[in-house]
Amino acid sequence: MKIGFIGIGKMGRWMSENMLDAGYCLTVYDTNVEAMKPLQEKGAIVATSILELAKQNDIVITMLPNSSVVEAILAGTDGLFHSMKSGGIIIDMSSSYVFSTRKLAEEAKNFGLTLIDAPVSGGVKGAKAGTLTIMVGAEEKDYSKVLPILECLGKAINLVGQSGAGHALKAVNNYLSATSLYASCEAMILLNKLGIDLNVALETINTSSGQSFSTHYKLPTFILPETYNSGFSLDLLLKDVGMVNNIAKDTKVPVLLASLIEQVYEGAARTGEPEQDHTEIIKFLEKISNERLHKKEVVS
Ligand code: NAD
Repeated sequence: MKIGFIGIGKMGRWMSENMLDAGYCLTVYDTNVEAMKPLQEKGAIVATSILELAKQNDIVITMLPNSSVVEAILAGTDGLFHSMKSGGIIIDMSSSYVFSTRKLAEEAKNFGLTLIDAPVSGGVKGAKAGTLTIMVGAEEKDYSKVLPILECLGKAINLVGQSGAGHALKAVNNYLSATSLYASCEAMILLNKLGIDLNVALETINTSSGQSFSTHYKLPTFILPETYNSGFSLDLLLKDVGMVNNIAKDTKVPVLLASLIEQVYEGAARTGEPEQDHTEIIKFLEKISNERLHKKEVVS
């Protein structure tokens, strides 16, 4: 089966490699030509434009930074809507904005196309291993058509609702993740100030009720050893929290903590290095508390 893949970034690079390994005939496109080279070496066809990719493929996956980019690539003058054959399916696996997705999905129908949202969780590690969690917003009949494709990218795949449901759930999931990471980092700084060994603290928290993905994985892997190489940028996490605040406004449902969490990550984005990893949130908290974490080795 021929598939097009647009957005060969930190995630898309591994997701498309898994599709090649699964035997799909893959055409890739990214504005960064260098990013496509490793895939070309593995047998992918490199397209020089969206138009070229769209004409060759009835199924196209997008893995792009945000809804503005997705809107341009789907609905722009030379975009997928205007160039794919009627009957085609677009799967947006980016973390996009639910209401933009719903609008695009309606527009897609006018061109005889189907837009499915299928954002992912599991990071670069999950993308590489093909173990992503995939949350799908689609009609049941369309979901069953694309399920075999998704199965070579992820393990936990759920149809969570109609168009946009996947994107809504993904934003909410990342809001929870951002909140727990923030709280866990703040806790580490406080414990450090109190002179408590952070290795011992983490070991104890991880068998107590304060445990989370942040305490089990992010703190010992990326933060305490100061590697900051999770592969998920702080800007992308800030985008996700911002989307939850926008959903809250658009639906008139108060999500009080989300505005605080957005401001914290906003502060970190403004004061930190460009392109910083989301785990570098700790540096912002170190700055505002004037407290530096010292312990670097973690007992596994
Ligand atoms: P990234 O910035 O590494 O990759 C995005 C890619 O899109 C880049 O290669 C960029 O060149 C390309 N691109 C941008 N504009 C383009 C255009 N107009 N035409 C063609 N290509 C274009 O981002 P990423 O970390 O791979 O994340 C991609 C998406 O997945 C985002 O929506 C993100 O929120 C989501 N996500 C990321 C992670 C993670 O751990 N990195 C985890 C889950 C979900």
